[in-house]
Amino acid sequence: MLTTDPYDDDKLREECGIFGVSDVEGAAAMVALGLHALQHRGQEAAGITSFDGQDFHTHRAVGHVAGNFDSEEVIGELRGHTAIGHVRYATTGGSGLRNVQPLYADLVSGGFAVGHNGNISNAMTLRRDLVRRGSIFQSTSDTEVIIHLVATSGYRTLLDRLIDALKRVEGAYSLVCLTNEGMIACRDPLGIRPLVMGKLGDAIIFASETVALDIAGAEFIRSIEPGELVVVRDGVLTSHKPFIQQSQRPCIFEHVYFSRPDSIVDGNSVYSVRKAIGAELAKENGVDVDYVIPVPDSGTPAAIGYAEAAGIPFELGIIRSHYVGRTFIQPGDGVRHLGVKLKHNANRHLVAGKKIVLIDDSIVRGTTSLKIVQMMREAGAAEVHMRIASPPTMNSCFYGVDTPERSKLLASNMDIEQMREFIQADSLAFISIDGLYRALGEDSRHQGQPQYCDACFTGDYPTSLTDHDEAEQSELILLSERKTG
Ligand code: SF4
Repeated sequence: MLTTDPYDDDKLREECGIFGVSDVEGAAAMVALGLHALQHRGQEAAGITSFDGQDFHTHRAVGHVAGNFDSEEVIGELRGHTAIGHVRYATTGGSGLRNVQPLYADLVSGGFAVGHNGNISNAMTLRRDLVRRGSIFQSTSDTEVIIHLVATSGYRTLLDRLIDALKRVEGAYSLVCLTNEGMIACRDPLGIRPLVMGKLGDAIIFASETVALDIAGAEFIRSIEPGELVVVRDGVLTSHKPFIQQSQRPCIFEHVYFSRPDSIVDGNSVYSVRKAIGAELAKENGVDVDYVIPVPDSGTPAAIGYAEAAGIPFELGIIRSHYVGRTFIQPGDGVRHLGVKLKHNANRHLVAGKKIVLIDDSIVRGTTSLKIVQMMREAGAAEVHMRIASPPTMNSCFYGVDTPERSKLLASNMDIEQMREFIQADSLAFISIDGLYRALGEDSRHQGQPQYCDACFTGDYPTSLTDHDEAEQSELILLSERKTG
């Protein structure tokens, strides 16, 4: 079974990817194609739900899109001209089949299927309330809360019920929903997770990233605006903005790491932004070396930008095997430490005797950085410097990205000099938060009203974190009980 790379435990894990298409023959086949292009956003499970004008059809499976959605038999069962799909990395609720999306329910208004990218930060609180009032949950996913809120809303039409439900949730959501009457796509009022719209003939397509439109041969129309719901019914498109307008706060990490470099996110080419980050990094933290070397693959565009700005040759000093990791047996602890060597190998002939700077997108736990620095030294590098294309990751994400708890993040426990010592580099530097904003075309980060969500770097969360605050509160009460008990 193909699932998340077992060796890649030192990266923030991608969230989820969603795709929906209406008014096209063989809608499910196009959704499968779109999900292929979004596979980097979640490798643990995938699902498609279609509607044929009368019935809904769903196939959900643990593993990759390839192998689960490429047989004529599976696609043939998913009849209809409208379909939605989802690829998933489990951020909330665990990875069992019952949590694989799209989730589906028969409501008083008819069938309702939903695919969700993001995370509801008050899901536990809402769920407790719903269960008290008699709701019976089928999964442990935060997304199911939306279904129950829609089911129990007092409004009449499905659109009004959905709006009513969304007004009660906090956090991040980009959704594609399938109903008896058509398709609805929406993005939370801060626009934390991306969502774009495209067109192919009469077909309207929604996708997490433009790369999924490219693969379907569709034309990019625009991003769904923060707080916007777009309804497609009988080929007619209507836009609704029922929420109080707020300044948008899209996830800045989409540009650093999550999105594919060939995507356009909120009007910016991800590849160009990553190169600009590298250039800013070179300006802020230059170092006298022979070669600029990317940590593959995510460090590559920033390394190109760094090398160009610094006037230092860009070279491939680490070669990545594309055939290891995802297909290799799940490793036991004994061989896990070998994982990084199976995946990355030093280009010994190039680096021996040379001073090098390694460029990576981020440092999470620091374990992979340490192994890569050691690998370069073993290959004979004279000096090994490290530059990081994001500020230190010091805080957990509550918006659909799987970050280790704060205490496991290297930057939350150490200052930069201690981190340098930990990874055994000759020098270590990160891009500044303002440098990152400059790479995105901003003059600087606007303190008090930042243009992006950057909470994993700054701790400045753009929404309340009800579940997290409650959990912390209970822990404090427990601790004080233990002390006084
Ligand atoms: S906390 Fe970080 S990863 Fe999460 S949405 Fe904000 S910027 Fe993105």
